[in-house]
Amino acid sequence: MFPSRPLLLIGTAISCASADCATISVTYNFAPQEAQVAIDHAASIWEGILVSPVPIKAMVTWIPMNGSVLGITFPNGRKDFTGAPVPQTWYATALANSIAGQELNPGENDIEIYLDASTDWYFGLDGATPSGQQDLVSVALHEMGHGLGFVGLSKKEGATGSLGLLLASDFAPLTTTFPWPELDSLPGIFDRFLVHPQNGPLDLMENPGPTLGSAMSSNQLRFNGPLTMIANDGEAPRIYSPSNFALGSSCVHLNEATYPVGNANELMTPFNSAGHANHWPGPLCLAMLRDIGWNLAPDVGMVEPCARSPLLELWPNPVQSELSISGIIAGANVVIRDVEGRTVMVLQGGSSIDVSGLAPGPYLVSTEAGGLAKHGRLIKR
Ligand SMILES: [Zn+2]
Repeated sequence: MFPSRPLLLIGTAISCASADCATISVTYNFAPQEAQVAIDHAASIWEGILVSPVPIKAMVTWIPMNGSVLGITFPNGRKDFTGAPVPQTWYATALANSIAGQELNPGENDIEIYLDASTDWYFGLDGATPSGQQDLVSVALHEMGHGLGFVGLSKKEGATGSLGLLLASDFAPLTTTFPWPELDSLPGIFDRFLVHPQNGPLDLMENPGPTLGSAMSSNQLRFNGPLTMIANDGEAPRIYSPSNFALGSSCVHLNEATYPVGNANELMTPFNSAGHANHWPGPLCLAMLRDIGWNLAPDVGMVEPCARSPLLELWPNPVQSELSISGIIAGANVVIRDVEGRTVMVLQGGSSIDVSGLAPGPYLVSTEAGGLAKHGRLIKR
């Protein structure tokens, strides 16, 4: 039972201001026409957010799944492609293609989504979802989010947790049309940001192993991407990691209780509420996509628009002592934060600052005023 709620979170399909905006083409198996319209609408919302020179290919299959789940998504994956930011790490092909600037998987889909044909769906685009019905635009937007890389490779058997040991048979009878790769016990890029508050990053734990297993069902997992932490006031947001590990739900969603129905970040939690709609990914999801490597349209969200073309110019970069900055918003301070999101320096006025006291490493440099923000990445030598 879910009460009806005010629809505060309905976004409109924005058009990407950049010539590089993504295109998403969806092919359908068995989906009724009215479902296709709603799913295409969800794709158009993502098109307004993502920047990619390579068209994204999604396939949606509409089959009864006994009402137990609304949808399941299988992202195609690549690792160690040209330009891969982190080696020995899986990336969703939609993301890998955008980073590589070329199609790495010709003839294969990037994203394959199953949606439950037996669910009582609301097909409208307006978010006025009647009580008792599931909003298809919301669920399609959520599933596409997984396909774009909001997903990991975690699994737990008995007390043993693993990353990168998922098998096609774990999801039978569902299958993918693209070949299931040998995952080689390697994590996905999303997994590399998962941390346990006491035991540290999951990707540094014995894999497979019991410490990893207990972390995955600790109810304490967090995502510590630097842009995500900045978007979350310096704190790593909670990841769904309940005491009973659930394949496909645990470790690949924001925490349901932390981001309940009506929260701006509810879209990427594991449960969708009937009679409710949300057509926008929310600031945390957008920051998480940026942390895993997505280039998002400049007008989207609150954090840096594009790691590859920062609006705040910093030089020299890497820097040892004197840093020059151009593009500071008039009257605003410049704030330098470390990867934990902690403010380490503030520049008030001027356009240069002595950073020789900073420890070597990466930093995010920001200038923010009146809802406007510019950011740049800095490396201190
Ligand atoms: Zn999900």
